[in-house]
Amino acid sequence: MEDCIFCKIAAGQAPAEVLYQDDDVIAFADISPMAPVHALIVPKKHLASVEEIGADDSEVVSCLIMTAKRLARELGISNSGYRLVINSGPDATQAVPHLHMHLLGGRPLEPKLG
Ligand code: AMP
Ligand code: ZN
Repeated sequence: MEDCIFCKIAAGQAPAEVLYQDDDVIAFADISPMAPVHALIVPKKHLASVEEIGADDSEVVSCLIMTAKRLARELGISNSGYRLVINSGPDATQAVPHLHMHLLGGRPLEPKLG
């Protein structure tokens, strides 16, 4: 999708520290990390938010979680633990309108979510 930064990264048309990719998903370091490990896991298909996930997209969704798990192992935080976050829509302060999952870890995270 034109002018979508995460589509551009997925297409190799914008820079990113890519950590993993396959046909369906790309993962890269967050440009403004909130924790020692902060990666974004992004479907290559443009879906603006959780609200745009359709019945046909269940494979994409499971791929996000399996990629997060794989990255957690590769980045050495599977045992210490991590948080997976998807912000969807204005009240969640979603800033980039292309579905993405945050993988956060590498230090104890605040217990509260909201
Ligand atoms: P959200 O608030 O869930 O939409 O999070 C968007 C995240 O994308 C933020 O943590 C930003 O730091 C991150 N971000 C925005 N642009 C880039 C970029 N070009 N490369 C890597 N991370 C980015
Ligand atoms: Zn996009």
